[in-house]
Amino acid sequence: MPELPEVEAWVRELAPQVSAYPIERAGPAHVATLKTIDPPLAALEGRGLEGAERRGKNLLFPTDDGELVLRVHLMSAGRLRFLAAGTKGPKKPMFRLRFVGGDELVLTEAGKKKRAGVWLVTPEQVDLDLSHLGPDALSLDATSLREILERERRQLHPLLRDQRALAGIGRAHANEILHRAQLSPFKASTELQAEEVERLANALHEDLARALELRDRGKGDRDVYRIHNHLGEPCPVCGTPIAQVDYEEHTVYYCPTCQTGGRLLKDRRLSRLLR
Ligand SMILES: [Zn+2]
Repeated sequence: MPELPEVEAWVRELAPQVSAYPIERAGPAHVATLKTIDPPLAALEGRGLEGAERRGKNLLFPTDDGELVLRVHLMSAGRLRFLAAGTKGPKKPMFRLRFVGGDELVLTEAGKKKRAGVWLVTPEQVDLDLSHLGPDALSLDATSLREILERERRQLHPLLRDQRALAGIGRAHANEILHRAQLSPFKASTELQAEEVERLANALHEDLARALELRDRGKGDRDVYRIHNHLGEPCPVCGTPIAQVDYEEHTVYYCPTCQTGGRLLKDRRLSRLLR
């Protein structure tokens, strides 16, 4: 799933492109993708977009009259592409915006499950729909991070990717940030020393800044991630093979030497079966 740095890089790239010309035609949209019906997509036609913004992992495209916002969430497999006039695009995208002059913004989604979403709402409704999001990870300082960590006892990995606690981080960057901070993915958030909170805050900023810089240059997952999906490869810090813990839906990657005092963590799927 695209996380904060990737979405932020797209937003920066798309902002000037989508605001160059007014919208000529909005849609068609796949019935599973379009999550709102009122106002209809046609309400966008004839209007211009102001640019592109990011809130958490959502992309927002406000109209330049301030009346409407097109919100896109790509989930795991959705991709947004801007096609300059005359470029051949996918035959049946999940959603399409066509601009005067022929440029297009298209949403495609790989796989059978259609989970990506498009909403056309008012600015007030966007605020309401996204009011559950915690503060943006990119602008989080150590003091706010400490408050989030101390609010309730949570394991660090699930806490970091909980969009209600802080917005923008997912499985991949949770792995990267905790490795950089030399903290176990399963350490309790309320048991961090002041120095560890500081380390986590620094790691979070360093990792996101590095990733954003790479994404801005068009780099992909293999360049951005050093731990995530690198099972068995040497840790970039100490050389120990990267280990993993499997869950039903995802995998946590970590370095046993840097993060867990040499301990290998139990496979959580297996322990659940044995319980
Ligand atoms: Zn290591």
